Amino acid sequence: MPTATDPAPPRDGVLRLGIVGIGKIARDQHVPAILANRRFALIGTADPHGSLAGVAAFPDLAAMLAAVPDLDAVAVCTPPSYRAEIATAAIDAGLAVLLEKPTAATLVEAEAIVAHAAAAGTTLMATWHSREAAAVAEARAWIAERNVVAVEIVWKEDIRRWHPGQEWILAEDGLGVFDPGINALSILTFILPDPVRIETARIAIPEGRGAPIAATLAMAAGDIRITADFDFLQTGQQSWDMRIDTDRGSLFLSDGGATIAIDGEAPRKSENIEYRSIYARFADLVAAGESEVDLSPLRLVEDALRIADRTTVAPFTF
Ligand code: NAP
Repeated sequence: MPTATDPAPPRDGVLRLGIVGIGKIARDQHVPAILANRRFALIGTADPHGSLAGVAAFPDLAAMLAAVPDLDAVAVCTPPSYRAEIATAAIDAGLAVLLEKPTAATLVEAEAIVAHAAAAGTTLMATWHSREAAAVAEARAWIAERNVVAVEIVWKEDIRRWHPGQEWILAEDGLGVFDPGINALSILTFILPDPVRIETARIAIPEGRGAPIAATLAMAAGDIRITADFDFLQTGQQSWDMRIDTDRGSLFLSDGGATIAIDGEAPRKSENIEYRSIYARFADLVAAGESEVDLSPLRLVEDALRIADRTTVAPFTF
């Protein structure tokens, strides 16, 4: 297994990878990105019910580890509440670990995973797929040459359309509307030069649920004023938008960072490359014996939940 002192990828550079959690995101994005990358061989899945045609299936990580002792890495695509236990077991087994966002259900759990990986000398990649969206790097470079004055985030999607039946997402450790909202926060913390802080937060939690269905945040980064409006009940037009006003023009990111418009010019949309970028870098990190972790988006969510004014709203059913 690759370690900090032995960073060479095994078996001619092909990493034997297992996926833990074969749900929506694993099927939609991870599997195609893995199959398109010659540096990975997908050799197992661990999920209580799900499986992939042609890939050895196990009910959980322990069963996969027992049956496939020469695994090199796992991608953890479960809901966040299971991440800490799974990541810890994978690190103990000497595997490189790729974590879907959010890194864990809580900051404390995420920090424990990071410390455990560091102590073991194991590669840990805590991914934020929205940071890999096609226009985000261009936005970051454009912002770096200007002084940002204000940022307005509008992240509104239909929970029933994008997360059908995912009861876990409205449990306390599912993060509710912050599950998509943290994607906006991951872009924000990546493109702004200064650390972001929460100033005020308002959240609406459906009666009988543990996590918000809507949230409004006021944030700041240095002198930059930032607002965010997150809604999980948006029907019709969906919005994953961010407007950045600077001393020399404005930039509009939409489609979750895939589309960019500068100073009112025609929007430019590019192909979705998020997960291909993630797996290319994961292979590089394993080869170099390095890790990549930034917990700042999760920290903002926890800060918002801690200080938020809470209201209880009508019960929600899928
Ligand atoms: P999902 O469809 O509910 O899939 C999660 C899968 O993990 C389910 O098959 C679940 O099985 C399985 N699972 C639960 N506990 C497990 C365990 N201990 N070991 C192995 N497998 C386990 O959820 P999802 O939409 O894919 O989301 C998963 C994560 O990806 C979330 O953190 C989310 O934020 C992130 N993500 C989702 C999207 C998206 O569009 N959906 C986009 C980007 C990132 P059971 O159903 O039997 O419990």
